[in-house]
Amino acid sequence: MDIEERIQLRLRVNLYFHTVLTIILTISSVILLGIDFILDHNLYFAFFLFNLLGLLCKIILYKKDFSITQRYFWVFSLVDVGAVSLAYYLTASPLSFVFPFYLICIFITVREIVPGEVSLATALSIIGFSLNLLLLWEKDPSLFSYTKNSYVLCALFFTYSALLFTATLTHLLSKQDHQFIKSMRAVLHEKEDHLKALNKVNASLEEKYAASYTLSLIQQYIHHELYESKLLTKITDIVQGVLGSAFTAIFGLAEDQSLKVLAYSGVKDFTSLLQIIQTPKWLPHKALTEQSLLGWESASSADIQLLQQYGINSILCIPLYTKEVKIGILVVSHFQANVFKNDQRELLQIIGNQLSLALENIKLHQATADMALHDQLTGLYNRTYFNNYLENIKEESIKKQKPLSFSSLIFDIDHFKQVNDVRGHLVGDDVLKIVASILQKNTDENSVAIRYGGEEFLLLSRNTDLNQLKEVAERIRQQIASLEFTDKEGRTFSITISGGIASIPKHAKTTEEVLQKADEALYRAKESGRNRIIVYNNLD
Ligand code: GH3
Ligand code: MG
Ligand code: MG
Repeated sequence: MDIEERIQLRLRVNLYFHTVLTIILTISSVILLGIDFILDHNLYFAFFLFNLLGLLCKIILYKKDFSITQRYFWVFSLVDVGAVSLAYYLTASPLSFVFPFYLICIFITVREIVPGEVSLATALSIIGFSLNLLLLWEKDPSLFSYTKNSYVLCALFFTYSALLFTATLTHLLSKQDHQFIKSMRAVLHEKEDHLKALNKVNASLEEKYAASYTLSLIQQYIHHELYESKLLTKITDIVQGVLGSAFTAIFGLAEDQSLKVLAYSGVKDFTSLLQIIQTPKWLPHKALTEQSLLGWESASSADIQLLQQYGINSILCIPLYTKEVKIGILVVSHFQANVFKNDQRELLQIIGNQLSLALENIKLHQATADMALHDQLTGLYNRTYFNNYLENIKEESIKKQKPLSFSSLIFDIDHFKQVNDVRGHLVGDDVLKIVASILQKNTDENSVAIRYGGEEFLLLSRNTDLNQLKEVAERIRQQIASLEFTDKEGRTFSITISGGIASIPKHAKTTEEVLQKADEALYRAKESGRNRIIVYNNLD
């Protein structure tokens, strides 16, 4: 039986007693009404009414929800105490026999919730009852004479006996309750301790789960996204989300050994701080140089002072490298102090390792992609790039709704076959490389150099000023013509080139047409004696 049921039972018993009492009172009232006895009629009715109202109150309360009944528990005791006090007042009447019932009522509802509650109720009842007796004695000592009022003595005997009996009974019951509550509390504490331990395990499991989820998410991105900046930003976003950092940044090590921000996520703009800490004297550089994970404990006083200016109180620098190649650094920061515990360090170290591998892969991927667009011998862009370039130009013109505007210089080495035949193929290759480097040097931000075929080259330009383009072409022609080559036998020789120029919209409408027109001009240059550049409109 749980404590709630026990209390309910007590209240029920209290109600039964009270009901029995009320029935007895009603019957006795009917019997006694006709007899002329010492009791004052009005007082008797007041008592009868109080008793009846008290019962009603108890029944209403008992029917309510247990939480309410429990809260207004004192009403039961108040009714009982009130009734018993009134009954005391009427002790001189034959109704004294009701005392024991009231006492039982009181003691039934008394609970050992507060230690000593029963003893206190017992002591108070005895004192109160005895005081009443004393007052009564003083009023009329003859009431207590054995011959005259034996029923009063009888009532007294019953009352004291009932009082002691109910007090003992209640004491025993309450003791049991007390023990029960105590043991319940002990069980509850034990359960709470278990729950706490379980919560702890849960929290650590959740953390581990979050960590492995983060890793799997990062791995997913590493496998699917091959564009460096997109991948890196996703990773800084994830780290930022999981650790709630102030900022998370990935720095890349440039060829000149300086650090550059590759990706960044943060609760606010820390650009100025990132600019400062990427320079050599700060912690990130140190971590990369030492190739070891460095945190707040490794920060110099200057580092700490700077970071604290931005409200940052925790930092972790995870170097990114593979074998001997330093790639960059992952920096995670937090506004709170001592945030990065072993678990976070381990997680970030794993992320760092994965990131290093991913960046290495991206580099390889970019190198392969680069190779696909470049000519291996000369390093210039190849035909594949050329096709992409033309496509881009066309798309851009459609998108911006602007007419095509673009020019092309094509040139071919004169009598190159002879170079191969007389000096050998390897010498021919060297010549091609040198010609390509001269062409490359003469490109600007508006133009690209392409190896179009065997010994044919292109200079594609956004600049459509034909005079300027002719100037560039002439410069290239002269620079090549002035070169002196030496073959394996030590013989020197030189070469010349012939070229043709055409542009959109002056000579053609489409990219195919402009190349064809430039080619026609080249053909004319060859025909008219080589070592010259001809602009398409000068053909006639
Ligand atoms: P023209 O003045 O009419 O252009 O005479 P040409 O001898 O240059 O004639 P053609 O364009 O027919 O000859 C191109 C030669 O370029 C043929 C080929 O052997 C040579 N060639 C093409 N690609 C390479 C290469 O990668 N390396 C070397 N060494 N030679 C190449
Ligand atoms: Mg040719
Ligand atoms: Mg040729």
